[in-house]
Amino acid sequence: MSNNKDQLETELIHAPSNLDVEQRTGAVNVPIYLSSTYHQESFDAFGPFDYSRSGNPTRQALEEKIAQLEEGARGLAFASGMSAISSSFMLLSAGDHVLVSTDVYGGTYRFVTEVLTKFKIDHTFVDMTDLTEVNDAIKPNTKVIYIETPSNPCLNITDINGIVKIAKANDCLTFLDNTFMSPLYQKPINLGVDIVLHSATKFLSGHSDIIAGLAVTNTEELGERLAFIQNSFGSILGAQDSYQLIQGIKTLGSRLKQSSESALKIAAYLTNHPLIKNVFYPGLPNHPGHDLHNSQSKGSGAVLSFEIKDSVKAKTFVEQIRLPVFAVSLGAVETILSYPATMSHAAMPKQERDKRGITDGLFRFSVGLEHVDDLISDLDYALQAASQQVKDPHVVG
Ligand SMILES: *Cc1c(COP(=O)(O)O)cnc(C)c1O
Repeated sequence: MSNNKDQLETELIHAPSNLDVEQRTGAVNVPIYLSSTYHQESFDAFGPFDYSRSGNPTRQALEEKIAQLEEGARGLAFASGMSAISSSFMLLSAGDHVLVSTDVYGGTYRFVTEVLTKFKIDHTFVDMTDLTEVNDAIKPNTKVIYIETPSNPCLNITDINGIVKIAKANDCLTFLDNTFMSPLYQKPINLGVDIVLHSATKFLSGHSDIIAGLAVTNTEELGERLAFIQNSFGSILGAQDSYQLIQGIKTLGSRLKQSSESALKIAAYLTNHPLIKNVFYPGLPNHPGHDLHNSQSKGSGAVLSFEIKDSVKAKTFVEQIRLPVFAVSLGAVETILSYPATMSHAAMPKQERDKRGITDGLFRFSVGLEHVDDLISDLDYALQAASQQVKDPHVVG
């Protein structure tokens, strides 16, 4: 057997342990081990598993898979993206300080401002696209720089290498939320990031059916520390959801490529639309982070956002659009339209939202697998309808 390194699309399907872990049956899918506890062979001999909070073979197959895909040392699966994120922050101690992207995911904003503060872990929000501002915000007790790139929902691009350099010079760890890119398009550990985080609820699982989170560490040592927190805090991913996530990951390659191709076409269409004020998508050549993004990522992803002109009524637009699910979340086979001001960023006060460009005209559009022409004509229809002051544009004329 050759031992050539496979392309990521191949790894998504095969690596590393999709065969029945015990090699007993040759089943192509990993078994779902529904067991909370494990028989110990003898009085003083312990097997590889003892209790499923500490370790479960199905979850372990998933954890090994994400570690390999992200090219990290250790993967850990959690009950949600927020659980992976908050458990990683638990590596800190009272008196520590963290730097966080201004346009961080709303749930992370809530955790940092309302939970970490109770444990005397302080924070500063900084514009991560401005490395001077990041450098100036470092304090003697800063222990983590937390970034999201592209960010949510305005798709700002952070220079991963630049942040890692500042972190290393100041003895900080870098955490990166890689939910929007997935390991298919962005491998932060290879750029020096210490912990990569995922809401696997999104692209990795891909079918809007489970809530899951993943973390990958760059070293075994950090992996051990995070595994200790995972076991102590206990918000692990169950065996059935672990299985479902492994299945979702297998099709990530085709799903994300198809959706990203459509996203670029939709972004280009919206850019030229007279009723659209702004389009945010790193794949557009006029996006301020376009070149930087291309230097650190292999694709632009399936999420874009756009701002409608004041003459377009947001409510009517949502009422008239037919195909997208109007919902929170992203990264699924169905296109999802969201309204950040009242959905993903509802936890953020209005003046904080406005500072971050999350205006009342902003929509986020996570492109699914529908035919792109259908999505474009749907957008076209709804935008026209929402710009007219009529009740039912279907019957006009
Ligand atoms: C959804 C999301 C999260 C939170 O993940 P959950 O699985 O919902 O807990 C974190 N970061 C980003 C970028 C997300 O989109």
